[in-house]
Order: sequence, then structure tokens, then C-alpha cells
Amino acid sequence: MKTLIEKITAENIEKQVHNAARLIKEGGLVAFPTETVYGLGADALNPQAARRIYQAKGRPSDNPLIVHIADPAKLTQIAERIPQRAMALGERFWPGPLTMIFPKKDCVPLATTGGLETVAVRMPDHPVALALITASTGFIAAPSANASGRPSPTLAEHVYLDLNGRIPMILDGGPVGIGLESTIIDFSEEVPIILRPGFVTKEMAEAVIGEVRLDPGLKIGEAIAPKAPGMKYRHYAPKAELILVRGCQDKVVHTVNRLIEEAEEQGQKIGVISTDETYLCYPRGIVKNIGARKDETVIARNLYGILREFDQLDVDRIYSESFSEQGFGQAVMNRMLKAAGHRVLEV
Ligand code: AMP
Ligand code: MG
Repeated sequence: MKTLIEKITAENIEKQVHNAARLIKEGGLVAFPTETVYGLGADALNPQAARRIYQAKGRPSDNPLIVHIADPAKLTQIAERIPQRAMALGERFWPGPLTMIFPKKDCVPLATTGGLETVAVRMPDHPVALALITASTGFIAAPSANASGRPSPTLAEHVYLDLNGRIPMILDGGPVGIGLESTIIDFSEEVPIILRPGFVTKEMAEAVIGEVRLDPGLKIGEAIAPKAPGMKYRHYAPKAELILVRGCQDKVVHTVNRLIEEAEEQGQKIGVISTDETYLCYPRGIVKNIGARKDETVIARNLYGILREFDQLDVDRIYSESFSEQGFGQAVMNRMLKAAGHRVLEV
């Protein structure tokens, strides 16, 4: 199968979206930009189409897909027992990087929900995504458009690298805005639970609806499995071993430089994820600057792209500085710890 990358412009958006929507309506797959990461879309109410997503990504079949809508009023067609608090969150954060989980209606196939009786729903904040959903069937199931286990795509080129030959079309809307997957909040139990941290933080949600819990399964070293099936897989992973180094800045820089020196003496190629503050402090290794320490939005936007760059450079190991877990930093560190398989060096 040949994979077309279609660059979207103000002039061609209508025609491109029309063609892509036709593919979706026929049960096919289209990768498209959202504000979080690129998604791989199919008709959410067509089980055969949903199965094609799992095949193309090599995704485990128990890992449910998020259903994307372009109109909040559509929520009641696919979900049941939607509490008032969820409506309030939707009003505040949709369109946006927030996914909510409810008991599903019968029209949503188990192929889309990974066999679960609940459905995850989100209204994305991206003109191409919204136009595509509206022009197709109104309900597009879309996980991130990477091959399973790889970092999520933040550029159309990342999708192409992972899925070339496996899907017919990629809509190229340029770089995404946020760069990390949506916050997932589960409303299928009494107290809403964050199953995956994202741009919408616990504090932001609590300011609208009161108490929100964090899935205890997300904690490192916790014996309970996370409730979102996708969070249990080693995920977001670069090819090289990634190690986070945590401590005060001077000690981190000193330790990483020593480790690079030792590894290079053994002929290894080492990558470093540094910041604006430390970029010039690493004389050796292949050094990438992820952005200023105080701005998690920039760190988030650069993270997956940098992990992919290191894959292409074929490094043997990556050392990364680690970041604050406050606010959006919690989502950033959640992804980094997963990418690192929780390998952290305290200095
Ligand atoms: P992705 O779209 O690739 O970010 O993956 C979707 C994420 O949402 C995965 O981590 C899934 O496990 C999670 N998810 C989707 N639907 C549900 C659901 N009904 N219950 C729990 N987690 C879900
Ligand atoms: Mg994903």
C-alpha cells in the first residue's frame, strides 16, 4: 500500500478532508493532526475498521481506543450515565486535551473499546481533526499514530516513518501544539480518577468539579496495575536505553559528563537531553536541548521528537536531566519515566 502525505493548507483543506473522510466512511484508516499528538483514525462504530487500527500499529487488542467527536452533543449517542460533573469539565476543557470515560452504549463495538464496557471520549482542538470527524461519521476512533511501543508522533514525518506502507493517507498539519497525549479521567466510578496525566492537571480539573483522584496504579513501584490498559505497557520508548539523572544541577552535569567519558572510552555513542541552562556544560556526547527548565510546555513539545532523533542517530544510551513534577510537569515526568523503564540515577 502506498502512503500519501497530504500537506494541508487553507486553500486545500476542504478537498483533502473530503477525500480523507471518504476513506474513513469506507472503513479505511487516515492519520491526522490533533493538538496533542497525531492520531490514527477509523470509523469508531465499525468494528472491522477499528480492528484495522490495531493491525496497522501492532497494538495489543486489549488496549482500547479513544473515540473523537466534533460536537459535545454527540456524547450522549455513545456514552451512558454521564454525570453533571463530567458535563461541567467538558464545557470547560472541550475542545481540548481531555478524555473522559463512561459506560458505553451498545452502538460502540467492543473492537473499539478493547473489550471493555466503557468508552473513552474526547473532542480535540484542531481544525483538521474537527473537520475530518464532522465530514466522516461523527465518531473517529484514534489512538496515537505511532507503531505500538514507539514515541507518539508530533510531526507527520514521524507517522510516515512508523506506518509507511501500512495506511493509505496522512494529513500533514505541521507540528502539533502540546506534544503529549491527553489527560484521561474515568467517570465510570463514584469519584473521578485520572488514569493518565496530561495538559489538563488534577488541580485544573478540581477547580471545576471538586475531588479528583490519581490512579494509584500510576505510582512507581506500585503493585496494582494501572486502570488504563495502555499505561501498563512499556511505551514511548526510544531504541536506546534511557536513564534519568536526578539531583541538583551541578551534580547532574558532573555525573553525566563522567558517565559519557567512561562510555566513550569503551567506544559507545551517548546522547544527552539537556536544557537551556545546561546545554553548554556538556563538552562530549551528542547533546540535545529540550528547552528552558521552567517551561514544561516547551519540554513536552520537544520530548518525543528528541527521542526519535536519538533513534536515528543510533546512540547506545541516553542520559537525561529530570524535571519538576508540578502541574503539567507531572505528565512530562510520567512519560519520561515510562520511556526510561523507570531507570533513575539519584545524584
Ligand atoms: P492513545 O490514544 O494511543 O493515547 O491510547 C489511548 C489510551 O486510553 C490508552 O492508554 C488506553 O488504555 C486508554 N483508554 C481508552 N479507553 C479506555 C477505557 N475505556 N478504559 C480505560 N482506559 C482507556
Ligand atoms: Mg498511544
